[in-house]
Amino acid sequence: MNKSIRHILSLSGGKDSAALAVYMRDQVPEMEYIFHDTDKELPETYEYLYRLEAILGKKITYTTPEHSFDKWLAVYGGMIPSNHRRWCTKMLKIKPFEDYVGNDIVINYVGLRADEKRDGYLSPKPNITAVHPFKEDGLCKSDIMLILEESGLGLPPYMDWGRTRSGCFFCFYQQKIEWVRLKQVHPDLFQKALEYEYVNQKNGNPFYWNKHEPLIELQKPERMKQIEENWERSKLKKSLNRPNRPLIEVLGGANFDDEPEGCLICSL
Ligand code: SF4
Repeated sequence: MNKSIRHILSLSGGKDSAALAVYMRDQVPEMEYIFHDTDKELPETYEYLYRLEAILGKKITYTTPEHSFDKWLAVYGGMIPSNHRRWCTKMLKIKPFEDYVGNDIVINYVGLRADEKRDGYLSPKPNITAVHPFKEDGLCKSDIMLILEESGLGLPPYMDWGRTRSGCFFCFYQQKIEWVRLKQVHPDLFQKALEYEYVNQKNGNPFYWNKHEPLIELQKPERMKQIEENWERSKLKKSLNRPNRPLIEVLGGANFDDEPEGCLICSL
């Protein structure tokens, strides 16, 4: 039997995949929109996806991993994920995607832009082909901003308080200033992240989200003040070096020079 090709767009909760969803809405009406829910997302991410659903006029399918983050954490011996131990993306994002697809022939729509040099995740499964409509159509950051603005969706609401990427509230790719903002805006989530950290009693190896600085230290008022001051200084320096910022950046107070590095699956 000749099975039809499925068209799938994975949303991360970030601006680029959301803009791609809006961009593709009328071009591929049969598109399946999916979101791999780690159950550790920011509340603003769910709010943004909810608004996106209204704009798309279509439900987003939330895939739930076979096991939760906490279950996988136990499987991985309690080692919280890091850049070098990135089991979280594998088990909570890639595996659910490949399980959802199964053996069907799939075109996977990825929101990489024409002005990016980064490569997205390419599945080794032969039945999944990635396509990059923004790259193919030459759409850059300013075009993506326009799509978001004109559709009424705008930027993800967590950007209002300075978080630059979607993904888990404790993501180790966060900058120090983002941890400070998390503490100020979502102290309960900061506390949960802090409770995941510990020092291995056997060999003394620390398991911290933020390289060598435990959150218990980072949350001290004098340290948070220092991080904020450093960040203000570097922001000022950057803006002086870049006088012609786009209006959306100036009005939105966001700095899109700081594109999320690292996990493109979680934040694109
Ligand atoms: S957002 Fe960060 S912590 Fe969460 S799955 Fe992705 S890389 Fe891991």
